[in-house]
Amino acid sequence: MSVNVREPVDVLVIGSGASGAAVTWSLSEAGFSVACLEQGPWVPPSSYPTSSADWQFLQQTKWHYSPNVRKLPADYPVNDDTSQIKVVMFNAVGGSTIHWTAHVPRFHPSDFRVKTLDGVAEDWPISYFDLEPYYDLNDEMMGCSGINGDPANPPRSPRQMPPIPIGPDGERIARAFDELGWHWWPSDVHVNSTNYKGRKACNYCGPIGQNCDRGARASSDITYIPEAIKLGAKVRPNSTIFEITAGDDGRATGANYYNANGEQEFQPANAVVVGCNGIGTPRMLLHSTSNSHPQGLLNSSGLVGKNLMFHVYAGASGFFNDLDAPTYRGPLACIIMSQEFYETDPSRDFKRGYTFQMGRGQGPAPTATGGVSWGKNHHAEFAERFGKNLGLGVIGDDLPEEINRVELDKKLTDRHGIPAPKIIYRVGDNSKRLLAHGVNSARTVLESAGASRIISSQLNTNTGWHLMGTARMGEDPARSVVNQYGQGHDADNVFIVDGSVFVTGAAVNPTPTIQALALRTADYIRHERSDLKS
Ligand SMILES: Cc1cc2nc3c(=O)[nH]c(=O)nc-3n(C[C@H](O)[C@H](O)[C@H](O)COP(=O)(O)OP(=O)(O)OC[C@H]3O[C@@H](n4cnc5c(N)ncnc54)[C@H](O)[C@@H]3O)c2cc1C
Repeated sequence: MSVNVREPVDVLVIGSGASGAAVTWSLSEAGFSVACLEQGPWVPPSSYPTSSADWQFLQQTKWHYSPNVRKLPADYPVNDDTSQIKVVMFNAVGGSTIHWTAHVPRFHPSDFRVKTLDGVAEDWPISYFDLEPYYDLNDEMMGCSGINGDPANPPRSPRQMPPIPIGPDGERIARAFDELGWHWWPSDVHVNSTNYKGRKACNYCGPIGQNCDRGARASSDITYIPEAIKLGAKVRPNSTIFEITAGDDGRATGANYYNANGEQEFQPANAVVVGCNGIGTPRMLLHSTSNSHPQGLLNSSGLVGKNLMFHVYAGASGFFNDLDAPTYRGPLACIIMSQEFYETDPSRDFKRGYTFQMGRGQGPAPTATGGVSWGKNHHAEFAERFGKNLGLGVIGDDLPEEINRVELDKKLTDRHGIPAPKIIYRVGDNSKRLLAHGVNSARTVLESAGASRIISSQLNTNTGWHLMGTARMGEDPARSVVNQYGQGHDADNVFIVDGSVFVTGAAVNPTPTIQALALRTADYIRHERSDLKS
């Protein structure tokens, strides 16, 4: 079979999500020729569910968070039968930022030193302060709404926009935290509170995770990617990479992929940057075997796919009869957060900690189908909670364990015949104790806020949206896959920029840290790797 060979580029970026888009922009700005290949299509904002009266139906079907339910042509199946937490992601230009809620808290300095401070997991090879300038640059590109002065975090530069108003319901929960003497702060979010860089301000319509046809919620297809294209980057959607190729010296030579017509093509490149997320990246590396990488690309340590972390989630929901406005108004999340129990406390029976994130209620269809029982009590239960429920989510640090992992499934494949990922994951004992504490504390806050009834869950399972740890960074090639710049220990022209490189997961949403790391890798290439420029 003859394979079409494309014009060589300096850098091939695989994936156009949060991480791949940031690198594509940064390297294009520095004059590298960049091709960004993405397996999914462009999704025009006019096609988003928020533009449709049927949005609640669409979110249960072709816009579902899970690729196993959506089954769109760009989706690959994920075998998560052996995982307590089910994987969600989106495959398109913009990656999972098409669906994200855009909460952007930063890691704490302590998150990079958990071995030293708490005797668990491993320290990162970098500190918070190595990443700080890249967090700032990313906020500038994505647009951050928030406010300075949070006592739980280091001082930092002003956000681009004032915080999203927390609303009377946010004030209610904030007062409860105050009465308990517990920390809270308005959430930092990549959602516009004012018009920003040609994108409109949020109109507080509600279902923020179902996309935003105003462009108020940043996603990488409307922030980094258009800027990168203006700078000359070639973004090729509907291009599914099935292997990164390597020469006998171990260095990458490019990648083989299926184009939009299902034909095989080869993209030669001086360097390959992988940003396929914490599941897609190990899948691709494990599938890229060659004479120089018989166990899969960058896998001499055997750690590719191991140490999968998701973040563990639980929470409590309170019902209120005396709120000033229905709780389906305003962004579903992005309200306030509390880091009262973030750091390790020796008096507790778990290490590290968690963040509380306040959430609002949902529209009528998800309320009716999301926990309200069927039968004669259905209407009474619906009436008790619709427009009247407020929640506190507990997002917990999920310490890495080698047995939690991604493998290639032996039978299941995508439409091209590429093996699907198989997830083996169970919630660790530290996480279980941490979540139990979090749920009790969440109930305490909701009681203090005056909830008439409170329900809680000890573990949320459809929450595998933070995909981390499966090609971790470190100084020792026997204990890690890439170095502090995301550069492969086994191939100096392969870079990983997504959450795979995380050493630990912290207790906050990961994407600003993913994007800051990606921009730091790009900066390293810009300044130290002019050899990669033709
Ligand atoms: C419902 C939901 C809510 C979320 N909310 C938040 C939040 O509030 N805050 C937060 O910090 N994070 C949130 N996240 C997580 C956030 O979306 C991810 O952390 C982030 O998008 C990861 O960026 P990435 O570049 O690593 O991967 P992705 O954004 O997942 O992008 C990977 C891209 O690679 C492409 N790809 C994969 N394999 C191939 C291949 N073989 N060939 C070509 N292309 C390929 C995919 O199609 C995809 O577009 C949420 C996620 C979801 C699903």
